[in-house]
Amino acid sequence: MIPKDSDCIFCKIVSGEIPCAKVYESENVFAFLDIAPVCPGHALVVTKGHYPTLLDIPEEMGAELTAALKAVGNAVIKATGAHGLNLMQNNHEAAGQLVHHAHFHLIPRFTDDGLELWPQAPYENNDEMTRLAADIAAMSG
Ligand code: 5GP
Ligand code: ZN
Repeated sequence: MIPKDSDCIFCKIVSGEIPCAKVYESENVFAFLDIAPVCPGHALVVTKGHYPTLLDIPEEMGAELTAALKAVGNAVIKATGAHGLNLMQNNHEAAGQLVHHAHFHLIPRFTDDGLELWPQAPYENNDEMTRLAADIAAMSG
């Protein structure tokens, strides 16, 4: 039984209740163009089921999702003539997630397109990096 949320815009897109520019479909995965693209060809790959974030998606969907990301990613590059591709994935509002149905952004990139995706800075002290690495390793293993 595929989970659905009757208030979710992506569930409505997957079911056909809201129209979309569909580009791909497999048993559990669906893809369409973002209505407000970073640049033309920006696609969204979603699970057909309603899982709020990536962290909620069943692990057994991993191979099918990876296949969809590769197929749509390669097609976006070919169709747009892009030189590269960003895979973006937001989880929870603090990370910029507006639609609470797990999805991946596939964004075509061009040499010198000037898009700055995120600022970075080195750790201020190495102890913090070592402590965080130990904590994350312990909690993910
Ligand atoms: P988020 O910020 O949650 O990672 O991204 C949600 C994305 O969904 C946004 O980039 C937004 O433009 C896109 N979006 C929201 N509503 C619709 C819609 O009705 N149709 C399509 N095609 N994209 C949508
Ligand atoms: Zn949904």
